[in-house]
Amino acid sequence: MLITHWGFSGPAVLVASSRGARNLAALNYQFEIEVNWLQEQNTALLFDELQEVIKLYPQKTIYKQKGFKLPQRLWQFLIEKAGIPKDKRWNELGKKKTRQLVELLTHDSYSISGKTTFKEEFVTCGGVDLKSINLKTLQSKTAKGLYFAGEVLDIDAVTGGYNFQAAWSTGFIAGKLGA
Ligand SMILES: Cc1cc2nc3c(=O)[nH]c(=O)nc-3n(C[C@H](O)[C@H](O)[C@H](O)COP(=O)(O)OP(=O)(O)OC[C@H]3O[C@@H](n4cnc5c(N)ncnc54)[C@H](O)[C@@H]3O)c2cc1C
Repeated sequence: MLITHWGFSGPAVLVASSRGARNLAALNYQFEIEVNWLQEQNTALLFDELQEVIKLYPQKTIYKQKGFKLPQRLWQFLIEKAGIPKDKRWNELGKKKTRQLVELLTHDSYSISGKTTFKEEFVTCGGVDLKSINLKTLQSKTAKGLYFAGEVLDIDAVTGGYNFQAAWSTGFIAGKLGA
């Protein structure tokens, strides 16, 4: 996941947006997302890992000494979000706050309010229903001589060049094989 100046992006967000494209459109792109910054789901395990960190760095401030392999600025943002003072040391965290920190790191919540600022959306879905065309030639079943290719078709490819590939391949089929 990429954190930009205006919000979340990167492959994880593009894939999630693609998978949920119709649901997100129905919500008018206003929804909550939950982020697990550590991937690990087992909170008991993470709690134990933090006990080890406390043993390792009792006198270090939590703000400066990361407990997990996260980018430093993200770690510091999350520590502030968790309401942990910048001068708090690991041995002062206590069990209750440790549990809260694990909860935040695994079930962090954000409000999403729209798509990109400049309408540069990567993810689109919908288009000409594939049932209405002959997939061998890409000719419309209802309007003879009308061929469809690329983004106009209801094909959602995952991110990573597959949309270009779909556009080129269907363009080739419609142009060469369909004609
Ligand atoms: C910001 C962004 C980033 C992307 N990055 C990637 C990526 O990294 N990898 C990937 O695989 N895919 C990517 N995509 C998707 C990819 O660009 C499209 O799937 C692909 O360009 C579709 O090609 P196309 O020729 O079908 O449609 P388009 O590229 O949309 O071409 C349609 C053309 O038709 C023209 N047109 C529209 N209406 C008319 C009209 N009435 N008369 C005449 N001309 C008209 C338009 O001006 C346009 O030039 C990205 C998309 C966006 C928006």
